[in-house]
Formats: sequence, structure tokens, C-alpha cells
Amino acid sequence: MPLLADLHAALNQGAIEIIDLTAPLVATTPILQLPEPFANTIGFQLEEISRYDDRGPNWYWNNIHTGEHTGTHLDAPVHWITGRDGRDVSQVPLTQLIAPAAVLDFSTEAAADPDFLVEVDHIKAWEAEHGPLPEGGWLLCRTGWDARSSDQDTFLNADENGPHTPGFSVDCARWLATEAPIIGLGVETVGTDAGAAHTFDPAFPCHQLLLGANKYGLTQLQNLAQLPPTGALVITTPLPIVGGSGSPARALALVERS
Ligand code: MN
Repeated sequence: MPLLADLHAALNQGAIEIIDLTAPLVATTPILQLPEPFANTIGFQLEEISRYDDRGPNWYWNNIHTGEHTGTHLDAPVHWITGRDGRDVSQVPLTQLIAPAAVLDFSTEAAADPDFLVEVDHIKAWEAEHGPLPEGGWLLCRTGWDARSSDQDTFLNADENGPHTPGFSVDCARWLATEAPIIGLGVETVGTDAGAAHTFDPAFPCHQLLLGANKYGLTQLQNLAQLPPTGALVITTPLPIVGGSGSPARALALVERS
């Protein structure tokens, strides 16, 4: 049977399951909050054009107001100054929008310490058990943070010292950017960097180093707990915003069920 017919049959029969990794887009979807004096993104908003009324008797439609980096979204290399000569979000090769994923689970560590940082040794230990990170694929980092994603305050988890959310050490970000065969890093938190990453050297190392290496970020993912450590295929669908630094995206994972 042709490959695509096989795939469709497997999807219909449940041999391949589709897991939605995307946060619903609503006005309360958490967004990043930068401190003064920096400018911030807007949240998601619907603006009704007509709803079966005088403005349009038989139809309902809205304008949408959103930041590029609102909700589940892709960071393109050009998002960061180190990637300013790299791809914008409309230039992501289609082959990278369907890519395998390694799923690393640090939910226990993040529950014990919201400032938990993944180190290279954590990834090496995972590789010793599961094999190398996928060439041309994603590293998806599970932290359990998706359970907080319906509430801005618990999601950002900030106090007077700034946000406390898990992420990656500078050394690990450098290793992921320069040594790992991945195309990008996917996380459950508001951004790929840890909440405390404004204090790191360099600051925001995942943004600084991965986007500078023409790799991507994929943020505010959900349901990573439903994925196996290896073998999932992730479909990412950022809008082709010409010149855009990122885009809200539907992220889906295909998983084989036996
Ligand atoms: Mn972003």
C-alpha cells in the first residue's frame, strides 16, 4: 500500500495516535512579562466583526490580535540579535516542520526546584539509556509546567527577584547549539530559557546560542507526558509571516501505539 494510505489507515485505526501539544488560545493565555524599560507583547484577543447580526446576518467572524510570541509558538532565528541574519519564520524549511522528537522528563526535578537547570550530563545520561538525540529533530523538555498554563501567575512564578521557571544551563545551551544534532528546543514554559536566565552569562543563553546557530525554539507546549522518550514525530505549523520573528503554531505529535 502507498505510504500515505498506510499512514491514514494507521491514524484511523489508532495504531498512530495524534497528541495535541498546543495550548488553547484565549485572552488569558499566559504571556511573557519583561521588566521595565522593555516593551512587552500583547496577549491573544478576538475582535468580533459580525455574528449573524446587522453587521453580517449569516456569518460570524473575528479579527485576531496577537503577538508572534503568544501561546504555543515557534521562535525563528531572527528573533534574537545573534540570529539577525538567519531565517525568519516564513523561511523555515518544510522538512523541519515535520521532525522526530526526543522527550526528556525533568518534571520531578522541576517540582522540587522551580529554578532547576538541565545540564549536559543530564542529556548524556538520557542518551546512554535511549540513544543519541535525533539528527534533524527536536529536544522536547518536559517539566510538568504545562499543568500551570491556565494561570499567568503560577505559570510565570515570579517574585521580587524575577521569575522562577526551569530551563537550561549556559553550558547546556552551548552544547545544544553547537554539538547536538537537533534543529531546536521545545519546552512547556513561556520561553526556552529559565526564569532566572536574565542573570546568566550570557543572558538568555538558549535564545542567544541556539537562535544564533539557526536553530529554533518551541514554547508553551502541553501534553509532553503522553509522548514516549523516542519515536514521536512532531508537526509544527507556524504561520508564514514574512519577516516574522515567530508565530503562534499548532504543534501535533504522531505516536505509534502498539
Ligand atoms: Mn518566543
